[in-house]
Amino acid sequence: MTKQCIFCDSPVNTREHAWPRWLIKLLNATQESRPMSLRRHDGTDAQWLAKNAPLRFKEVCATCNNEWMSDLESESIPIMTPMIRGEAITLNIKQQITVGAWATKCAMLFDAHDPGETFHDRLDCLHFRKSLTPSLDSTNIWLGRYNTSGSPRAFTEHRTLRTPLMRSGNLVKSHVHTMAFGFLVLQIVRFKRTVHESRAFKIHFQHVVNLPWDKLTVEIWPNAFELKAARWPPPLAFDDSIHHLQLLARRFGGDST
Ligand SMILES: [Zn+2]
Repeated sequence: MTKQCIFCDSPVNTREHAWPRWLIKLLNATQESRPMSLRRHDGTDAQWLAKNAPLRFKEVCATCNNEWMSDLESESIPIMTPMIRGEAITLNIKQQITVGAWATKCAMLFDAHDPGETFHDRLDCLHFRKSLTPSLDSTNIWLGRYNTSGSPRAFTEHRTLRTPLMRSGNLVKSHVHTMAFGFLVLQIVRFKRTVHESRAFKIHFQHVVNLPWDKLTVEIWPNAFELKAARWPPPLAFDDSIHHLQLLARRFGGDST
C-alpha cells in the first residue's frame, strides 16, 4: 500500500533527514565527534556518528520536503545557529513562531516515524501544514541552554503520556518531545484536551521532578502569542549532573501509555 505524506494527500516519495543537513554540518564543525542520540518511543536508545549514518525518515512527499519544509529550515538557520553555538539572543515574536514551527515539525516527524500508536492525528498534521504556527490551544514550547560536556552533541527523546494538570489533577494525553543541539535545548509539549478542561489557551502541567524550571527554561509558545520577546539563554543551564537533560525530558512523567 502506498504510504501517504503526513502533511498532504500525496504519496511518500522521498526520504527526509531527521536532522537537517545544515544542523549536522554545524554540529560537525563546532564540536568534536560525539555521537548523536535518539531515544525512541519504546525507551530504547540509538547512537551513531552523524557523518557516518544520518537518520532519514520516509514520512513526507518531495513537494512538502522541497517547498515549505525547506523554507522553514532556511528561516530557522539564522535564528537557531547562534543558540546552538551558545551566543545570547533575544527572539522577537516572528522568530519564536519560526522556532516553534520547527519544533512542531520535528515532533510530528519523529512521532510518525516510530512504531506504535501516534499521538498526532492526520488533522493535527494538516492543520499545522496550513498554519505553520504551533497550535494555539494545545502546545507549549520552551528553550533552555545545555552546558555540554561529555554527552552526545545531539539529543532527541519523545514520549506519549497521561499528564496531570496543576489545579484539577485531571489527566490529559500529551506528547513530550525534548531535543538538544550543541548549547540549545528545545522542548515541545502537545496535549489533547478533554471536554472537562477549560478552553483557556494556557494550561499548566504538574511536574514530577522539582527543579527551578522557570530559571532553566524560557517559554516561546504561547509566549509569542502574548506578543512578548524571549531572551535566551535563561538564567540557569542544563548539565550532566544536577540539572540533567533527562530530568527535563521526564519532568511531566516518564511512563509510556
Ligand atoms: Zn506532502
